[in-house]
Amino acid sequence: MRPLIASIRLEHFRHNYELARRQHGGRALAVVKANAYGHGAVRCAQAVADIADGYAVACLEEALQLREAGLTLPILLLEGVFEAAELREVEQHGLWLVVQSQQQLDMLLASQPAKPYRVWLKMDSGMHRAGFFPQDYAAAYQRLAESGKVDGIVKMTHFARADEPALSATAQQMETFDAACAGLPGEVSVANSAAIMVHERTRRDWGRPGIMLYGATPLPAGYAQDAALKPVMRLTSRVFGVRELAAGEPVGYGATFVTERPTRVGLIACGYADGYPRLASTGSPVAIDGVRLRIIGRVSMDMITVDLTDLPAAGIGSEVELWGDSVNVNEVAAQAGTIAYELLCNVKRAHFVYC
Ligand code: PLP
Repeated sequence: MRPLIASIRLEHFRHNYELARRQHGGRALAVVKANAYGHGAVRCAQAVADIADGYAVACLEEALQLREAGLTLPILLLEGVFEAAELREVEQHGLWLVVQSQQQLDMLLASQPAKPYRVWLKMDSGMHRAGFFPQDYAAAYQRLAESGKVDGIVKMTHFARADEPALSATAQQMETFDAACAGLPGEVSVANSAAIMVHERTRRDWGRPGIMLYGATPLPAGYAQDAALKPVMRLTSRVFGVRELAAGEPVGYGATFVTERPTRVGLIACGYADGYPRLASTGSPVAIDGVRLRIIGRVSMDMITVDLTDLPAAGIGSEVELWGDSVNVNEVAAQAGTIAYELLCNVKRAHFVYC
């Protein structure tokens, strides 16, 4: 068996959910879209089924996967529906849905539900990706409220820059949102992980933590708010080849790395086809027995080369942590010029082990 393993520590997921919910106050939807950020949606959702207030997924297919697994908590569709036919399933499975555009609003108002929908009406308070503009929000709200087709509207928005704590952008979005919601009854949901962690004013009725549930921080290095988070995924593989090279020898495609000293090169079964980012080549950290080593040369499709020189005990069969406890997934993401979200979502071909 190829030794690439994604160990998913469900206890850590539970711990992080409890932490997020406590920090936020009120209730929190566990965001398990994109197959729980690559961790396995059903398993993660099951792990918090007795303590969570509900789940958030992107779309109907993801929600049905949870319902088919027997999960009965509320599920919110963050993208809403794409076509009117989906509304029947929304109703049948008791799903909650975001309404974020005029087209979605019109579809909903044209439908004939036997029982009312639970709607989260989204405002574009500054991200300019989805939602009703502040000046159109109250009208959309009123149309929904007077339609007789909804039983409760949660007012929501999403932040563009909550992960940049020093900026005023989040406070500005919050002000815009609050001003446009003035006088409209109902609960409020605005906070993603970064907001829960650093923007106290965003803690309202419903939090929507995602990345922090997986133990990765959305914040830049240097913020202590992530200290209590526990990484859920530990991605490991094994050394399956070792070679001794003299100084001055190139390693890997493009000969981008040349040994500076006599070097013991370890070959690891993991590559960009597994979701390890190719851009995190020379210099990116891995760990063996808690000792951090560095990748040398380019990451290839199925293999990575690592400098084992300073760890004589390492050899064929040694377990290598690509990210998890000794190597933070954010470090690897930074090496690749991306974010932990993308790396976690992209893990492929690994054997998933739930513990
Ligand atoms: N709410 C919405 C609308 C989202 O799209 C997302 C994720 O992208 C989240 C909450 C969770 O965000 P995070 O993973 O940064 O906590």
